[in-house]
Amino acid sequence: MKEFPVRRAAVRKPKPDPATLVFGRTFTDHMFLMDYTAGQGWHDGRIVPYGPLELDPSAMVFHYAQEVFEGLKAYRDPQGGVQLFRPIENARRINSSCERMCIPPIPEEDFVAAVEQLVRLEADWVPSAPGTSLYIRPFIIATTPSLGVHAAHDYIFAIICSPVGAYYAEGIAPVKIYVESQDVRAVRGGTGYTKCGGNYAASIRAGERAEEHGYAQVLWLDGVERRYIEEVGSMNVMFQIGDTVVTPKLTGSVLPGITRKSCIELMHDWGLKVEERLLSAQELFDAGDSGALKEAWGTGTAAVISPIGEMGWEDRHVVVHGGTIGPLAQKLYDTLTGIQWGTCPDPHGWVVKL
Ligand SMILES: *Cc1c(COP(=O)(O)O)cnc(C)c1O
Repeated sequence: MKEFPVRRAAVRKPKPDPATLVFGRTFTDHMFLMDYTAGQGWHDGRIVPYGPLELDPSAMVFHYAQEVFEGLKAYRDPQGGVQLFRPIENARRINSSCERMCIPPIPEEDFVAAVEQLVRLEADWVPSAPGTSLYIRPFIIATTPSLGVHAAHDYIFAIICSPVGAYYAEGIAPVKIYVESQDVRAVRGGTGYTKCGGNYAASIRAGERAEEHGYAQVLWLDGVERRYIEEVGSMNVMFQIGDTVVTPKLTGSVLPGITRKSCIELMHDWGLKVEERLLSAQELFDAGDSGALKEAWGTGTAAVISPIGEMGWEDRHVVVHGGTIGPLAQKLYDTLTGIQWGTCPDPHGWVVKL
């Protein structure tokens, strides 16, 4: 596997107390950088001390948001080793995002090699307290200094790492979510299936509105008909209705989550019926009223499983599983986190030990 040159930090930062970590505020000693230049391709992959990037104020990313990112974690196993969860899936997805955003793709093996080498170098930053991990944020930005609207000729691919505390330090608390009827996150033909910063910028207003109304997350409807459930906050979403698990199908405006895919594969292993299809808010709230809706949860790398305890839509209101986590969401959480932290068998070979 490729080895990138390393310039080590002269001073090492003190390691934070995992009990007081705030998500995404503390960064490790080093970062990975690689440059793209038209005519030359991706070149000069390297690990350097973590620090500011110097960019021209006209760098295209600042104006037209030509940018993509990824998110994955490194976990401390019981033997003290460090492992990643399905990093090849992140490599594939960033290239799918790149294709949509006219950013040149990164060879998958270089993406994975860069993540692995950086995390190995920063291994003592992977915390070992229960539920903690090292969050890894790869991203690509357009750096060409130009205000013309076209694909840039120059890019930086960077990877930074941030130790994170336990998501559920106080136990798994189900969230209240609100169906957003005004703003939409994404439309078919747009960039909903990519991880790009612009999708997040467009989602902030609805998130703030939901919080003002006492809800933790937005339940997004499709941008065309405003009828079908797509995602919850920045997670995929699943519902157990009767004996079937229903999750919105990947129409182009839904992000193809790796946690979503892993949950579907586990539920197939367990012989459960899973449907990837359109699910309207009407059908969902009717299932809530009739008692057919057994459980609801979001899926994503940060929380793994985020149970939904209450849902609001206009003047309708539904409580799910008595406002507590249900047995299926709990089983998915226990199995996935068991694989990720190396306390359960890994029959699919999802884990990469460093
Ligand atoms: C990243 C993300 C997800 C979850 O993807 P995972 O690969 O499971 O972390 C879901 N929805 C959106 C909008 C996302 O950006």
